[in-house]
Amino acid sequence: MTHTEPIRLAAADSRRPLVIAGPCSAETEEQTLATARQLADEGVRIFRAGLWKPRTKPGGFEGVGSAGIAWLERVKRETGMYVATEIATPHHAEAVLESGIDLLWLGARTTANPFAVQEIADALSGRDIPVLVKNPVSPDLELWIGAVERLRNAGIRRIGVIHRGFTSIDRSRYRNHPMWGIPIELRRRFPELQIFCDPSHIGGARELVAPLAQQAMDLGFDGLFVESHCRPDEAWSDKAQQITPQALARIVRQLVIRETATTTDNLNGLRAEIDKLDDRLLELLAERMRVACEIGRCKKEHGMPVLQTRRYEQLLSRRTEQAAELGMDREFMRSVLRAIHEESVRQQMRIIDEK
Ligand code: PEP
Ligand code: MN
Repeated sequence: MTHTEPIRLAAADSRRPLVIAGPCSAETEEQTLATARQLADEGVRIFRAGLWKPRTKPGGFEGVGSAGIAWLERVKRETGMYVATEIATPHHAEAVLESGIDLLWLGARTTANPFAVQEIADALSGRDIPVLVKNPVSPDLELWIGAVERLRNAGIRRIGVIHRGFTSIDRSRYRNHPMWGIPIELRRRFPELQIFCDPSHIGGARELVAPLAQQAMDLGFDGLFVESHCRPDEAWSDKAQQITPQALARIVRQLVIRETATTTDNLNGLRAEIDKLDDRLLELLAERMRVACEIGRCKKEHGMPVLQTRRYEQLLSRRTEQAAELGMDREFMRSVLRAIHEESVRQQMRIIDEK
């Protein structure tokens, strides 16, 4: 991916995240304007509202469509806020490019479809409008990066991403599992890419907005993308996760923003300790791989298959229990063991296939 630039609409403040907020859907002109005025009073500078709503099943409220463009233009005129909406087809792109809309985003279901992203990128080609790319519904970092690249290749320079969590079979407390490791890896690979967190769609519940927003700040995210409605209980879509503009302002005020530039001596000492532990961890892993290869040679000699399912099951359950006793998360240990086991099997297959 070649270089991207920040969305540069409102100046980022090193002590405060950039907040983009507004209702899941623009429902009526009155609701859109009332929400926008209250958000502007609370200091929000960028307003979001969905006009075309991708709904899981037909028959629900699918958005007011292009009729809402004039409402967003009115929000911009009367409050001075920048306005943003989601586009999912080239037709949406054309409609917003002719309007005063300042910022666009691609939804999670759109990012998941490279054909749709390419058609939208073509429709936006050469236009200087900032675009935010939500992560795809599945935990696929390359697909997310691919969508950013398609826009970048179409000449869009100002690009950011929105982490909104991932569909997971693990029915946890979240609507969409945060899987923080994915945005962390994205930041490592593309440090200049602006990252927003959408705690509303991750949590799916009002009470989770504050803790998720704080976690995003602890990880150094640049901003927040939050659903806010003047009357959340009456919202036509996603009502369980929408909060009032006043509640949003309270949450933003209470966020603890930690300095990332300064490190204390104590922290440096602890990091040195972690480095030493990682050295030992790597040496142990290398030793374990050597033994696994030895086992591979033994299996080859005796004509045994590589995969011994029962042994693997025993190892997995014994070690996850041990991990729990040591105060670690079972799921964490299962994924570590799975990764180690997969690599051992790969090494043993290589040995068995050797002539
Ligand atoms: C939204 O932001 O309103 C939306 C539809 O989100 P997502 O694409 O993350 O589901
Ligand atoms: Mn929504």
